[in-house]
Amino acid sequence: MKDAISYLRRRGSMSGGVVFAIPAGPPGPRPRAPAEEETVVMTSPVTGTDVSCAGLSELESIVAGCTRCALAGTRTRTVFGDGDPSARVVFVGEAPGRDEDLQGLPFVGRAGKLLDKMIEAIGFSRGTVYIANILKCRPPGNRDPGPDEVAACGDYLARQIELIDPVIICALGRVAGQNLLGKDVPLRVLREGVHHYNGIRVIVTYHPAALLRNPAWKKGAWADLQALKALHDEFTGADPG
Ligand code: URA
Repeated sequence: MKDAISYLRRRGSMSGGVVFAIPAGPPGPRPRAPAEEETVVMTSPVTGTDVSCAGLSELESIVAGCTRCALAGTRTRTVFGDGDPSARVVFVGEAPGRDEDLQGLPFVGRAGKLLDKMIEAIGFSRGTVYIANILKCRPPGNRDPGPDEVAACGDYLARQIELIDPVIICALGRVAGQNLLGKDVPLRVLREGVHHYNGIRVIVTYHPAALLRNPAWKKGAWADLQALKALHDEFTGADPG
């Protein structure tokens, strides 16, 4: 399967427009990656409230009142996440932008509209996946998240992913990929192959905002999404059709 995935991703030229059926997926425990393949990261120090026992709604309330870093003083709203709390696929972006900060929802601006299309292109919808970010608050001017901010926010996302327990995670862009996987390597390297986050398979692709600036990269993003869909179908038993 690994070969098939790398082949799909290397090709970057799968025929476009294929829309897969939304899989029902069997009930029961989610398939995990073999222990020896695991990469455990985002073990940021807990600063403030211990969230390790919080459920999703409690976690959202804790995040709404968070003052762990300076972004608490500049945000309009926290952006916790959106979608199905038992989704099999979780998309992780970088941090809220201006629109997200105003609305309190992830990926609602121009990049969000493109993300919706990317999600729909592989047969899912906003309501059948879950979308979150590395940071829950907007960095002023949309600058990259600082290491202190990522560390302060780290256990929120870690607990969120633990509770959702997806089959696969899609990291959107270099910042999301590097911070989720704890790998200080370029996006080109992150996009190769399948990574693991606490036993959950991770595919890294372009950030939708980067695709808006560089439409030629959409071909590569399409290959990444197809790899994600193939992995999802393999590990949920869904028929790709
Ligand atoms: N970019 C992100 O990384 N996340 C959002 O929620 C919006 C834009």
